[in-house]
Amino acid sequence: MRFDVITLLPELFAPFLAGGVTRRAYESKQIEVEFWNPRQFAQGHYRRVDDRPFGGGPGMVMMAGPLTQCLAAIQAQRSDRPPVVLFSPVGPKLDHASVARWSASAGAVLVCGRYEGIDQRFIDRHVDVQVSLGDFVLSGGEIAAMALLDAVARLQPGVLGDEDSHQFDSFNPALDGLLDCPHYTRPEEWQGVKAPGELLSGHHAQIERWRRDRSLEITARQRPDLIAAARASGLLSKADEAFLSKLP
Ligand code: SAH
Repeated sequence: MRFDVITLLPELFAPFLAGGVTRRAYESKQIEVEFWNPRQFAQGHYRRVDDRPFGGGPGMVMMAGPLTQCLAAIQAQRSDRPPVVLFSPVGPKLDHASVARWSASAGAVLVCGRYEGIDQRFIDRHVDVQVSLGDFVLSGGEIAAMALLDAVARLQPGVLGDEDSHQFDSFNPALDGLLDCPHYTRPEEWQGVKAPGELLSGHHAQIERWRRDRSLEITARQRPDLIAAARASGLLSKADEAFLSKLP
């Protein structure tokens, strides 16, 4: 799997790639990440990558030319034709389902915008899909690219220390698509608050039931849509339904 990232600020990625459980995935090239700076493909003494918007208004717009040259250099290196992703508030929001699809793919070209965005002609000609991180505006696509790379990496086999511990995270449709239960660790009592007795009981079935109930409870409260989806997919047991029917 290989991701080619087009960015004016590749240095922003260095600390991200060097830390956390996902580091091994990048270092071992289980997930290969290459950076491409459109400035290197820009013309003239100043290597301009942006210019003022036609029609006036504030800010600058990334020019189509350097981006296109940059993309051509990537495509010349890759024998496949990976999809070109642009991070933008315009796209559908990144979610578990799309992260799971990317994590089973051969990778993509990730385009990070800056300034006011990118000349629309580049988007129309070269971009296959736009992806948003949410309904807010970032000053660049780099954080969105890191979000995608991080979420994809932790789904790769062997990346999380505990084999496949992502199975139990929120949103996993293979499990139930519900939100995760709360977690506790030592000390058993902290500032007068005890950890839940069920978790300290040592009874596997009781622990599992407690976790399931908390997961149902928090999902019913915060994301009733996910409960409805789990029910429609037949992923709620009789015990789950009995618990849900008792919730206020
Ligand atoms: N003028 C644009 C915002 C430009 S922000 C608008 O109002 O929609 C500069 C760059 O940051 C964008 O080109 C995009 O790559 C990135 N960006 C901003 N918000 C984003 C979001 N919510 N999700 C993903 N990328 C985003």
